[in-house]
Amino acid sequence: MTSPEILDRITILRDAIRSHNYRYYVLDDPSVSDAEYDALMRELRELEVAHPELVTLDSPTQRVGAAPSERFAKVRHREPMLSLGNAFDEADLRAWRDRVVKLLGADTPVAYVVEPKIDGLAMSIAYEQGRLAVAATRGDGTIGEDVTANVRTVKSVPLVLRPDQGAEVPRRIEVRGEIYMRIADFERLNAQQVAQAAGSVARVFANPRNAAAGSLRQLDPRITASRPLRFFAYAVGPVEGVTLRSQWQALNYLRALGFPVNPDVRRLEDFDEVVAYCLEWMSRRDTLAYEADGVVIKVDSFAQQQELGVVARDPRWAIAFKFPAREATTTLRDIVVNVGRTGKLNPNALLEPVNLGGVTVSNATLHNEDYIVSRDIRIGDRVTVKRAGDVIPQVIGPIVSARTGAEQPWRMPATCPACGTAVVRYAGEADTYCPNRHCPEQIVRSVEHWVSQGAMDIVGLGERQARQFVERGFIQDVADLYTLTVESFAGMEGYGTKRVQNLLAAIQASKQRPLSRLIFALGIAGVGSTLATTLAQHFGSLETLAAASAAELESIEGIGPQVAQSIEAFFAEPEHRALIAKLKQVGVQTEQQQIARPTASGPLKDKTLVVTGTLANMTREQVSELIQQAGGKVGGSVSKKTDYLVVGADPGGSKTSKAQQLGIPILDETALLKLVGESAVAANAAEHDRQEVDQPALEL
Ligand code: NAD
Repeated sequence: MTSPEILDRITILRDAIRSHNYRYYVLDDPSVSDAEYDALMRELRELEVAHPELVTLDSPTQRVGAAPSERFAKVRHREPMLSLGNAFDEADLRAWRDRVVKLLGADTPVAYVVEPKIDGLAMSIAYEQGRLAVAATRGDGTIGEDVTANVRTVKSVPLVLRPDQGAEVPRRIEVRGEIYMRIADFERLNAQQVAQAAGSVARVFANPRNAAAGSLRQLDPRITASRPLRFFAYAVGPVEGVTLRSQWQALNYLRALGFPVNPDVRRLEDFDEVVAYCLEWMSRRDTLAYEADGVVIKVDSFAQQQELGVVARDPRWAIAFKFPAREATTTLRDIVVNVGRTGKLNPNALLEPVNLGGVTVSNATLHNEDYIVSRDIRIGDRVTVKRAGDVIPQVIGPIVSARTGAEQPWRMPATCPACGTAVVRYAGEADTYCPNRHCPEQIVRSVEHWVSQGAMDIVGLGERQARQFVERGFIQDVADLYTLTVESFAGMEGYGTKRVQNLLAAIQASKQRPLSRLIFALGIAGVGSTLATTLAQHFGSLETLAAASAAELESIEGIGPQVAQSIEAFFAEPEHRALIAKLKQVGVQTEQQQIARPTASGPLKDKTLVVTGTLANMTREQVSELIQQAGGKVGGSVSKKTDYLVVGADPGGSKTSKAQQLGIPILDETALLKLVGESAVAANAAEHDRQEVDQPALEL
């Protein structure tokens, strides 16, 4: 680029960033994702580093946040509230540390304090003579907004300091920290907003950060009071009457004054441990009750902090290690409706492909008609897409400010896109169904599930083949698979004698699968492979299970009323009874063959464990078997009766947060193996080599 081009680019970037700052900090309504914003900022910073003569005082790189809104009185911070530089990987972290060491001198020992970076809203709360006096947002770092009345309504913020352990109350202290919302509270708030909107467009928040900022920056503090906000203190600003020498001391002091301080903060002297902490937190991100977007690393000693100083808006003594983005904005090209195996119609978003934390996303779920209508999501909209612990990305909502007028509202079609039958939606239900049991798409989907690895595991049969058989009229239900003959393949391209024989042999072999797999293969709503194993062990045959009442089912550990009802209703349907008879008739084994005898006195005797997420070395079935062999029980959901939660990669957030709420110990794979004793595992692993299969979602 030539000089005028560079200046043009810098001007464009500055304008764009200023406008995003305004939308983000003042309106709480950003129109681009944080990752896109960060990319603009990075580009600007790089240009300014290369051309220092073009840096101006009003450049967004020189300021924190945005000017405070006119709606609130202004407060001047006695000491500026800073921002943080970012590290995106281990190399960035080490480069930061090298600079710290270089500036302080290679021989000076440096300790670091590491803290989860909670994604909320920075706050400075001043206490005078032990009483809350003024609370202010960060604003542009120098001048913030007076939100005292609102902060007073946040229950975890003490109104009066309650010194503990002989702590001295300072004459005046500014406590800095984050106002945030827990993920479960945020989801509840959004659900409430939708319910209150009763069919019209609801104001839903894109993420807990926006919800926290939007709830706090209300002119009417009564609204703030009704929102589930929380506070974590993470720093001390100007303080009078007490001398603090380090971040670690400051955190302990804050705790002693009665402030909530994150229990996961650590003081580490070895930088390798700092790196390990960052990486560990990145992998544990989905198990937290709150949204964390990174880890903050601070040089512990205040004297060393002073020596390192501040450049522009970022202290040199601290850095934020940022986790990969989970939200992005993109264009919603179209909405298509897929038919599931229960007949449920699933609206699916076709997106302009977008990179989300390293994965290209071009499809996302839109859940159901109400979800789309209550959020006013239109075809052609710019939308926010999120991909969290669970694998399926979802559309969060439209960016209304980006509308051009060409966007098209969407309604659920009146007829099934696969078979043309009029769709039904039962009163009080959000989902729409195709009621036609012979809908070809439903048959294809149930065959697809039936043949999958964790179910009957028929290698060589997939969606494409299922579709061909359904279209040719050979298959009306999964039992018909067992009536296929060599003739059924006549005229099918690519099927030589050998291939046909292999496939038919694989179908025959699947008749002998263990009962647990058969139960899972039936696709009963709410019955995943773990629960299927429990049911197989409890009942011993499909007939006995089919005859069980909801009450009887509910008495089994790990089965709640909703799933019990779902199982009872499934077997009450004449169609399903007929299917079971037909399966028996064609020779599918419906009894438990060899019952794995649970050890009566194993290391997990009388213990109930719940498993969530994918373990690195074991499938769900293997874990369940391992637990049962050790005398334990496998529960389907976390309750007071649960003794341990076993957590793998990409776990379900609700199980983990429930376990945290109930104080149930959480184990990873290694801890589980330790508990069980590793010798049992080797034997178990040798027996199996199966892959993990997702649990079907509860489609009630
Ligand atoms: P930052 O969020 O990267 O880091 C500083 C903030 O971290 C602090 O102000 C504080 O609120 C928070 N924090 C959490 N835990 C902390 C702890 N233990 N110690 C210290 N601080 C802690 O920086 P920023 O200047 O607040 O915001 C910049 C970020 O905001 C950008 O990276 C971008 O992701 C986002 N942003 C997005 C838009 C948009 O339009 N999407 C616009 C502006 C900013």
